[in-house]
Amino acid sequence: EMNRITTERLDIERKLRHALTRNELTLCFQPQFGAQSAQPTGVEALVRWLHPTDGLIAPDRFIPVAEETGIIVEIGEWVLLTACREMKRWIDAGLKPIRMAVNVSARQLRRRDFCETVAGVLVESGLPAELLEIEITESSVMENPEEAIVILQRLGRMGVTLAIDDFGTGYSSLAYLKLFPIDHLKIDRSFVADIEHDLNDRAIALGTIALAHSLGLNVIAEGVETEDQLELLRSNGCDEVQGYLFSKPLNSAAAFAFLHARHPAE
Ligand code: C2E
Ligand code: CA
Ligand code: CA
Repeated sequence: EMNRITTERLDIERKLRHALTRNELTLCFQPQFGAQSAQPTGVEALVRWLHPTDGLIAPDRFIPVAEETGIIVEIGEWVLLTACREMKRWIDAGLKPIRMAVNVSARQLRRRDFCETVAGVLVESGLPAELLEIEITESSVMENPEEAIVILQRLGRMGVTLAIDDFGTGYSSLAYLKLFPIDHLKIDRSFVADIEHDLNDRAIALGTIALAHSLGLNVIAEGVETEDQLELLRSNGCDEVQGYLFSKPLNSAAAFAFLHARHPAE
């Protein structure tokens, strides 16, 4: 079994090295909404790998390999630039400006030149910094909080916003949390899935909302699939929501059409 897993990883690694140059990666986009207004507030860019013979490979299968091998740095840069360019293109085509949220892994964040990379991407794409939101998981910022603070504060000064992803699944030092220039806490979908029936999950989700609000942060819940989950979150003050109830991740053309129909520029 271990042999099989090792062989599969090596196989993915070998193919991943060519994925970018062979244009096998694409982005899809999942809208985010105000919980009260039901208006789009942003979209999250999610990478997809369409391999010519293996077909669609899920990010959960290749992102960890990309992180271990360092290939994530190159992929991450491509994701950032492509996502920012798309939002700029949509705005130019008549979409009222909304946030573009991009997932960034610990390994990218730790690079000396990460802030320069982001600055370069903003210049190259022409997207205003305020419209870029970096999503970083709780566990990756808490890996080395002192180092993360310096980088995140630099990004904050550039005007880029920050969301803490998968909140509640790792360990957070609340003392550090206060020092990060965070805009959104993102409640992990594992807590939302069972929020109606599992009292522990509900306590964590509602506790996160209370914590975020007392720190002056917005909360976004991901993985919202049912009206009941939405109602529970909304009535407890959750600010924004994202999930299959509203939309699955969409390709660029479908995302633009979906958003533009709900959110045209005046
Ligand atoms: P994530 O950042 O937590 O992304 C949310 C995941 O939940 C996405 O899976 C999305 O398709 C899925 N999702 C959205 N709404 C629902 C829902 O209502 N129900 C359920 N069950 N799932 C929902 P996806 O696209 O497969 O991405 C998986 C993970 O891969 C992401 O988790 C993120 O950690 C990573 N990832 C994706 N794109 C990138 C990227 O460009 N860079 C990096 N570093 N990581 C990425
Ligand atoms: Ca995310
Ligand atoms: Ca998440």
